[in-house]
Amino acid sequence: MEKIQKLRFTVQAICLVLTVTSFFINFKIAMIAIAVLTVFAGVFYCGWICPYGFMQDLFGKFGSLLGIKKIKMPSSLQRILVFSRYVLLALVLLIGSNFVFGLMAFDPHANFLNMLVGSVAGFAAISVIAFFLIVSLLFERPFCNYLCSEGARYGLRGILRIFTIKRDQSLCVNCKKCDKACPMNIKVSKATNLRSPQCINCFQCISVCPFKGALSFGPMSTDEKEKRKYIAIALSALVLFGSFAAYNFFGGKKGVSEEVTTPAAGESNSVQGGGDAFSDAHGIADGTYIGEGVGFKGTTVAQVTVKNQMITSIEVTQTRDDKPWFDRANSAIPDSIIQAQSTDIDLVSGATYSSIGIRDAVKNALENARQ
Ligand code: SF4
Ligand code: SF4
Repeated sequence: MEKIQKLRFTVQAICLVLTVTSFFINFKIAMIAIAVLTVFAGVFYCGWICPYGFMQDLFGKFGSLLGIKKIKMPSSLQRILVFSRYVLLALVLLIGSNFVFGLMAFDPHANFLNMLVGSVAGFAAISVIAFFLIVSLLFERPFCNYLCSEGARYGLRGILRIFTIKRDQSLCVNCKKCDKACPMNIKVSKATNLRSPQCINCFQCISVCPFKGALSFGPMSTDEKEKRKYIAIALSALVLFGSFAAYNFFGGKKGVSEEVTTPAAGESNSVQGGGDAFSDAHGIADGTYIGEGVGFKGTTVAQVTVKNQMITSIEVTQTRDDKPWFDRANSAIPDSIIQAQSTDIDLVSGATYSSIGIRDAVKNALENARQ
């Protein structure tokens, strides 16, 4: 294994541990830094950080150790299937229907992250996580390649990157070893400056290349033709992102700093009851308490009412999260907490960070109540 692959493995293992300690949830700045890095240098998140990507890599290696030969997707199918995760992402962003969100409840990437931060996953979620890991024994990164909407989102963010994988045609002998090594099924041997949103910056192509310098990672070298292609891609991306932004602005998602009102006390997010030694509100005097948590885009504020040492209602009074994701979390998390009388509840898959924001705001309100 090349030095760079050892380094990548080490970083992936460290990031797995950091995820378990909720580092990426508590230090949003780390995620912002990764997003900025993606814009300039491509999708390091998938190749170096994502715990579920790491698990697929580990199972892939394990399969090789067992002598299982990796299967490659036939080119004709690959040409079609390569779009699948972008179609899924578009459905989530544009339609956001219950059907798509229902499917996302089985998203192994989100469920695996939830498990790492301490949520209990159901049988179906664990089965899907296990399914893609087993498939990884014979097919590299199956979930990343075709179904991960998060990977698609990162890929599109990095499409205009300045730093990328470059192939020096004067040194390349077209042995196609890079194509075989690429876990994302990219035809590296055909590119000069790699622009595919599928690339996860794993550098396996560089590691296997027998000719030093034929493949490298660095600022794009562009001739006139490449420049024109780059400008065309940049303009298309601008139109695409502009459309999303316009959609969000004119009614799709109301977005940032929106005041959100949840069902009032006495409706779905409320309960009647007497003191319960197992309630997180045990020992807390009757009253309404305010707490803050961190959602996907910033602070979430919740107002928690305690009566007879029971949590009787939860109202989220402020969030910065986008409405479809927030609504998904808010339609389930307050009820779950009230039913369980505990903040130790399952998060909503596909709305993980909004769920965490609400849960932590309730936790914080109860902590404040005890002071
Ligand atoms: S494609 Fe999805 S699961 Fe794969 S590494 Fe990227 S975020 Fe993780
Ligand atoms: S092109 Fe190279 S760096 Fe990109 S995913 Fe394939 S092997 Fe990894």
